[in-house]
Amino acid sequence: MYQAFLVKYAEIGIKGKNRYKFENALCDQIRRRLDPLEGDFVVDKEQGRIFLEARGDFDTDEITETICRIFGVSAVCPVDVVEDKSWESVTQAAGDFLEKHYDALDFTFKVEAKRSDKQYLYTSPEICVEMGAYLLDRFPQLRVDVHKPQVRVWVEIREKAFIYSVVIPGIGGMPLGTNGKAMLLLSGGIDSPVAGYMIAKRGVYLDAVYFHAPPYTSERARQKVIDLAGQVSRYSGPIRLHIVNFTDIQMYIYEQCPHEELTIIMRRYMMRIAQKLAEENDCLGLITGESIGQVASQTMHSLAVTNEVCTIPVYRPLIGFDKQDIMNLAEKIGTYETSILPYEDCCTIFVAKHPVTKPNAKVIRHSETKLEEKIGQLLQQAFETVEVVEIDE
Ligand code: ATP
Ligand code: MG
Repeated sequence: MYQAFLVKYAEIGIKGKNRYKFENALCDQIRRRLDPLEGDFVVDKEQGRIFLEARGDFDTDEITETICRIFGVSAVCPVDVVEDKSWESVTQAAGDFLEKHYDALDFTFKVEAKRSDKQYLYTSPEICVEMGAYLLDRFPQLRVDVHKPQVRVWVEIREKAFIYSVVIPGIGGMPLGTNGKAMLLLSGGIDSPVAGYMIAKRGVYLDAVYFHAPPYTSERARQKVIDLAGQVSRYSGPIRLHIVNFTDIQMYIYEQCPHEELTIIMRRYMMRIAQKLAEENDCLGLITGESIGQVASQTMHSLAVTNEVCTIPVYRPLIGFDKQDIMNLAEKIGTYETSILPYEDCCTIFVAKHPVTKPNAKVIRHSETKLEEKIGQLLQQAFETVEVVEIDE
């Protein structure tokens, strides 16, 4: 006994000569994700689709749920496989399929056909007509509705024939491993986990960096970020989380610089540190959860001044999103509940009552000169004490 699944992909299909690379990456991801599940799995490419066979003890729902969370998958369909694709056995199998999966055979239906075997006895439209006639004959309570059928019966004629009627949508995107790696600035908030998800969805592996400020930020806040990284890694694959102790740098800025500039200067140091970690870890860019106008440090002026210290690309996938849209996405991917736990963030601790909203780069650069004496040493200390946590779902 085995169960088979057709895995459909969308965007990879339009890749030209490189298509096989994307298909292979997707097969690799599917194998990796299925590996911890119960059952034995064979994953194969099969003319524009990926074909998966499960054997042994397995849980169909667990398999489909897992595959739907893999970037690059547009849909997954549990299928019945007909080894002998003579028309007689295909029709028989389609009828048996309906009997097996539906209690009452009294719905409206439509047959959808696809054939990659161009030698086959019937063309796709002919398959629809002939199969429809067969099913109506065998189950007199069925009715055809080509516009809004309750059930679509798919018949695909390939090496073998496949029959299915359930198409479960996947999350789309591109397979991981097809687009390098980036460093996500992951705070405990709502935005940054969503930002990481969105970039990973384009096939990018993630590393992450979290700045904490003990004892001002607690162990619970740190654990929250580790939990969020775990939730993102359900989609993005393993994440190396770099935890940077930011306390001394933050205190030093607080002592030396005007308080209304604290946030912006702090953000510049975060970016500098993240960039160095990115370069050391083969990351081709930074990712943040920033969105224009969301807070004082995310006005166009502030973003420009923050961005000034970066030489590698900074990806801000949420830049044009409203908070509500970001929250909806966070709910959808499952990070929202953790994100709203009310633990302190290092950015909010020393925050000024009236932070600058239109910082001037020259002024900020000048303020930073007041850090010259000790900042080099503090940065070095921060790098030397980075803690790395390997995260996997
Ligand atoms: P989030 O909800 O992601 O925390 P936010 O609305 O609180 O975002 P800010 O605090 O201004 O916004 O941070 C903007 C971005 O800077 C965050 O989305 C994140 O990418 C990064 N960031 C902020 N604080 C930290 C931190 N402590 N560690 C790592 N990255 C951070
Ligand atoms: Mg935050």
